[in-house]
Amino acid sequence: MVKPVSSDLLIAGGGLAGIVTALEALRAGKSVAIVDRDSPPERFGGLALWAFGGMMLIDTPLQRRMRIADSPELALNDWLRFGELDPNDEWPMQWARYYVEHSRTEVHDWLANEGIKFMPAVNWVERGRFGDGNSVPPRYHITWGGTSRELVRCMVNALHEASTGGRLAIHHRHRITALDHQAGEVCGAVAINEETGEEVRFEAANVVLAMGGINGSHAECRANWPRHRPQPATMLNGAHPFADGKLHHWAKDHLAHASLTPAKCGTMPRAFPPTPPIRISRATACLRYRVNPHSG
Ligand SMILES: Cc1cc2nc3c(=O)[nH]c(=O)nc-3n(C[C@H](O)[C@H](O)[C@H](O)COP(=O)(O)OP(=O)(O)OC[C@H]3O[C@@H](n4cnc5c(N)ncnc54)[C@H](O)[C@@H]3O)c2cc1C
Repeated sequence: MVKPVSSDLLIAGGGLAGIVTALEALRAGKSVAIVDRDSPPERFGGLALWAFGGMMLIDTPLQRRMRIADSPELALNDWLRFGELDPNDEWPMQWARYYVEHSRTEVHDWLANEGIKFMPAVNWVERGRFGDGNSVPPRYHITWGGTSRELVRCMVNALHEASTGGRLAIHHRHRITALDHQAGEVCGAVAINEETGEEVRFEAANVVLAMGGINGSHAECRANWPRHRPQPATMLNGAHPFADGKLHHWAKDHLAHASLTPAKCGTMPRAFPPTPPIRISRATACLRYRVNPHSG
């Protein structure tokens, strides 16, 4: 049997979520394997290669300079109302709350530290003064100097800089089809090399699922369409075609009765959100987890 590829951390998906997770792990001294279906090098970075590069950031120095009074509370209210979040939907609620409270430190300040600049005018995107949208303050911070393609370029450069001593292995054109678990802990994955058809096994103490959302699949879009809205006959899909929800379903079907515990990786920040059961959410999520063997 071919020896599995071994690392401290295995990441399914080489979009921005996977790349940034890998970067933090490498800086914490860990070895990392990224497995991504797409083709190198021009499509390493996922959907962000096609995105605009604006971010909802709350109570930033740029807003203050423009005398925009914003707060996590205002932003959360807008998010819940405009995002039509169901207050009983635990994960999206936790994520929304966490994001509004930490977007300045963990996104704005983190990116500024990486040398990313924002346009010196904060914008409206979803203005909601007279309808749906942000209630009052403009929050849309646009990356300065090249949309999110430039953001991806900076992050990929940082990734390669951080990968000293051969601690980073990127497996392009590989698709993860299943996760391995032993004694209640996820400990690796099985992938197919889509170029050769060969099966490749990965083993790692920590596994991160960062394979995008589910909306690259028309069928998933229709299956998860809000019940109170009519479905269009034709749909234009701008999501990543490989973000098809298959691995989400695999995790739901095979790990459904397990609860998740935050996994620590050296000095990496703690995982978020803590200990929810696995379920498929419409929101794109980056899950870092182990199966808790003591849960039923
Ligand atoms: C036109 C456009 C404009 C946008 N503008 C903005 C904007 O201004 N601001 C903003 O915040 N967002 C914007 N977005 C959305 C943003 O680009 C995405 O939310 C973000 O890039 C998602 O990153 P991700 O890493 O979570 O997932 P993705 O980028 O979707 O990456 C997922 C990766 O996982 C891989 N993958 C999937 N399944 C598997 C598997 N089984 N095995 C191995 N690999 C797998 C895929 O190949 C892919 O590379 C925009 C999107 C578009 C299309």
